Amino acid sequence: MPRPISATIDLGALRHNLGVAQRHAPRSRVFAVIKANAYGHGLMRAARAMAGASGFALLELEAALQLRQAGFRQPILLLEGFFDVRELSALVEHRMAAVVHNHDQLQMLRELAPGAGLDVMLKINTGMNRLGFAPADCPAAIEALRSNPGVGSITLMTHFANADDARGVAWQMEAFERVARGTGLACSLANSAAILRYPATHFDWVRPGIMLYGCSPFSERIGAEFDLKPAMTLASELIGMQQLKRGDVVGYGGVFTAEKDMRIGVVACGYADGYPRHAPNGTPVAVDGRLTGTVGRVSMDMLCVDLSGVPDAHAGSQVVLWGAGNPIEKVAAAAGTVGYELMCALAPRVPVIEQP
Ligand SMILES: *Cc1c(COP(=O)(O)O)cnc(C)c1O
Repeated sequence: MPRPISATIDLGALRHNLGVAQRHAPRSRVFAVIKANAYGHGLMRAARAMAGASGFALLELEAALQLRQAGFRQPILLLEGFFDVRELSALVEHRMAAVVHNHDQLQMLRELAPGAGLDVMLKINTGMNRLGFAPADCPAAIEALRSNPGVGSITLMTHFANADDARGVAWQMEAFERVARGTGLACSLANSAAILRYPATHFDWVRPGIMLYGCSPFSERIGAEFDLKPAMTLASELIGMQQLKRGDVVGYGGVFTAEKDMRIGVVACGYADGYPRHAPNGTPVAVDGRLTGTVGRVSMDMLCVDLSGVPDAHAGSQVVLWGAGNPIEKVAAAAGTVGYELMCALAPRVPVIEQP
């Protein structure tokens, strides 16, 4: 028997969640965002499950080429564009679309052969201050792209910093629309949070990521509230039990002290599997379908759970660290992070089971 930990990737959930995104933005085309190994779900696996997407968006040219080699023909958008002028020929040959977010890239584009037809997305910095042209520089950048005979279609894009929280998107929308007005160019703005919360941001292309994996982009909501289904379930088993007496402590540093006699279980899952080490006592864990919490510090290969409310638990009991039956949003909130980080952190040593 192998070590009992596994991550189940539910392909039907990925398909379903793509459908939810499409229904929320019925007049837009969808770039399914599959960066970071499809948020830990596996690049090719996720792309196959979401083959119905109008396009895919990711970071690495290598990964994009893998998609082409596997036969995907839809637009593939490189979210940080290209990093070196030598990449341009591959972009053109394989019909990749590139984000253009700085003047260096604009310069490099002058090396394109006339008629190359490279599709570009001009990224506008509307206030997030990460990537993108300042609004004041956009008219010149648009003109440079329009007059470049190697450039194909031009789309304007921006990215929201607060679509998931109270500050919202209006302040960035204003800046975007000042640039876009009168250009007649296609537009792409919405991430998952904006797709779910702000229909006015949808325009021509939406860019859902986290929602495709069944996780809510909002800290105070879970995916099920939007009809999203968790695509990743990290599961393991109890491989040991301990009977504690009042005053006993658990694990490295003894950060949990039993306030009463109690039973705990030892789970075959630790931070080397991708479980967050900083998860405090009480981080939710489901044991045989019953929600309980962690006790003591998470170690490399193991963590411990309170079995006070699960009297029938035994060695071999099923444990869900996150996913079906234990929403990843709640685990993330308890651990002071977001579902995005937990999914992406899934370690290569965890065997993956595909559920069709
Ligand atoms: C990652 C990313 C997205 C997807 O964001 P989610 O919050 O996961 O929906 C969209 N657009 C850009 C530019 C991104 O980098």
